[in-house]
Amino acid sequence: MGDSEENLDDVIERLRKRYAPVKDPKCRVCGHEMRMGMAGQGRVEWFCESDGASPLRKEGQARKDATKHYWASQEIQVQFGDEDVIRVLDELELKIIWKGS
Ligand SMILES: [Zn+2]
Repeated sequence: MGDSEENLDDVIERLRKRYAPVKDPKCRVCGHEMRMGMAGQGRVEWFCESDGASPLRKEGQARKDATKHYWASQEIQVQFGDEDVIRVLDELELKIIWKGS
């Protein structure tokens, strides 16, 4: 039971970020500003725009590290957010907390 609850926490965290109204997120790897990537169907993707996350003009391990950094920084957001989803997440989180105590 413990494991599945932990996973649910991760899912809640991810959905919370995704459905919160769009703002400029910071890279979770290095804290750098993010660049808006592909947008479509109401979804926006963000990627770290620091040099450390750019595989261009890099080789070998540096290129691998940069590629890893780039994908690790990815955030997906729903363009206009959805307060109903946030509300459900709040309720769900409360339920989990009460169940765990
Ligand atoms: Zn970064």
